[in-house]
Amino acid sequence: MLQRTCNTILALWFIFPFSFGFCEEETFYRDVAIIGGGASGTFAALKLKEQGKSIIVIEKENSLGGHTNTYQDPGTRQTAEYGVQVFHNQLVVRDLFKRLNVSWTIAILQDDPFPPRFLDPKTAEPVHYSSPNATAALGAYAAQLAKYPDLERGFFLPDPVPEDLLTPFGEFLQKYPDIQDATFIAFSYGQGLGDYLKQPTLYVFKNFGLDIVRDISSGFIVTANHNNYDIYARAAEVLQRDLLLNSIVASTTQRDDNGVDMNIRTPNGNTRVLAKKLLITIPPKLENLGHFALDHCESITFARFNNTGYYSSLVNNTGLPQNFTAYSVSPDTQQNIPILPGVYNVVPTSIDGVFAIKYGSPSSLSDDYVKREIISYVKKLQANGHANPVSGDPTFVAYANHDPFELTVSPAEIARGFYRDFYSLQGYRSTWYTGAAFHTQDSSMLWRFTDSYVLPPLLKSFGS
Ligand SMILES: Cc1cc2nc3c(=O)[nH]c(=O)nc-3n(C[C@H](O)[C@H](O)[C@H](O)COP(=O)(O)OP(=O)(O)OC[C@H]3O[C@@H](n4cnc5c(N)ncnc54)[C@H](O)[C@@H]3O)c2cc1C
Repeated sequence: MLQRTCNTILALWFIFPFSFGFCEEETFYRDVAIIGGGASGTFAALKLKEQGKSIIVIEKENSLGGHTNTYQDPGTRQTAEYGVQVFHNQLVVRDLFKRLNVSWTIAILQDDPFPPRFLDPKTAEPVHYSSPNATAALGAYAAQLAKYPDLERGFFLPDPVPEDLLTPFGEFLQKYPDIQDATFIAFSYGQGLGDYLKQPTLYVFKNFGLDIVRDISSGFIVTANHNNYDIYARAAEVLQRDLLLNSIVASTTQRDDNGVDMNIRTPNGNTRVLAKKLLITIPPKLENLGHFALDHCESITFARFNNTGYYSSLVNNTGLPQNFTAYSVSPDTQQNIPILPGVYNVVPTSIDGVFAIKYGSPSSLSDDYVKREIISYVKKLQANGHANPVSGDPTFVAYANHDPFELTVSPAEIARGFYRDFYSLQGYRSTWYTGAAFHTQDSSMLWRFTDSYVLPPLLKSFGS
């Protein structure tokens, strides 16, 4: 009975959208409800609004931005990014920044300003390793990428999927030794992939693609004031009342060709969203989508995803000298790629005494565990003589858990056509998707993907 009433309201609203505006004070009637206000959700919201669609963004945190983490030192006002750092020099990025009045500049990421140390992530002891000149190997890597130009646009895979893309990356490296000297640089840029050498080559290629190879030499876009959070603060000003922060979908009473009817838990109590379309931008793991009334077809698709773990932090009171930079390498692995879980790197920030420390894992870990491991690693650095004496333990200035980070499926699933099936969910039951699982962990690339492949058919589905 309830279901039938909802169906009737939605059907009538679809025909007479404006006459229902007065219906219930706490009900939002919208063209599109967007779940998640990270890179993809925020971009989609701005674009849909520009196209004259009414929208609402439902974001579980107290701000937009997802993996964007900017810390500002309360004393000096200096900032340190411990999430998203750089953007591609692409039209979609320049247009977005112009729209939001965000100033930017080009940064060529030079070699580290201070000679890095290469340390074993388990012991924090030096490993005999010297980073190779990667120029020729990067060229050979780019030539491999160029065989699959559609991968730059999305998970648009040849059919059948070439064996090379399914092969664990470690084996791919053995097959193509001319790219081996680029492994460490690809690993460093493509953090968050978990067990790097065992991942199907497809995911390494998606993570470290031609745009990154190009921008390494020609430069990335960075915000002029070194505050990436500004992008999202300005977006929030544009979206204003179309934004429900600290809010999640508590239940979905209807999701079909007529639209969606959802109950939202907000800090001010429960509210209801009736929307003609739903755009999901959060990682599509089953545990994230439990309240969206998934059907069998959706459930079995999303259930196939595994995820890696990725954690970022700012730590002070370490005693490390301000120019201390360390990368983890293993003494006895292929190309010295470290075995995770473990610390990726320790790099200084522009805030005196504050170091950025990243940590990765093949699967999710608890925050307590990761924090303990990071502190234990810093203590090993201290014990190994890298730091000056300090009193007290290292402390976290900031910490972010980015789980679930990289969503992957097995090579057998990829070969069976997983990504074809995954993409075929677009538009099913009035629901559309974007976000990293649909393309890659890269804000700029996701903006381009959303702009080119998600919003046009979504808008077209309105019949306008
Ligand atoms: C440490 C780090 C460094 C990075 N550096 C860069 C970089 O330099 N350049 C770059 O381009 N990319 C970088 N990335 C990758 C980039 O951040 C991602 O590709 C991008 O954020 C993915 O966007 P998304 O929209 O898919 O997800 P997200 O940005 O993660 O957005 C998802 C949003 O959904 C919200 N959410 C989750 N669950 C729910 C729920 N149930 N209900 C409501 N809301 C929910 C989250 O709070 C989040 O705001 C980095 C990532 C990390 C972790």
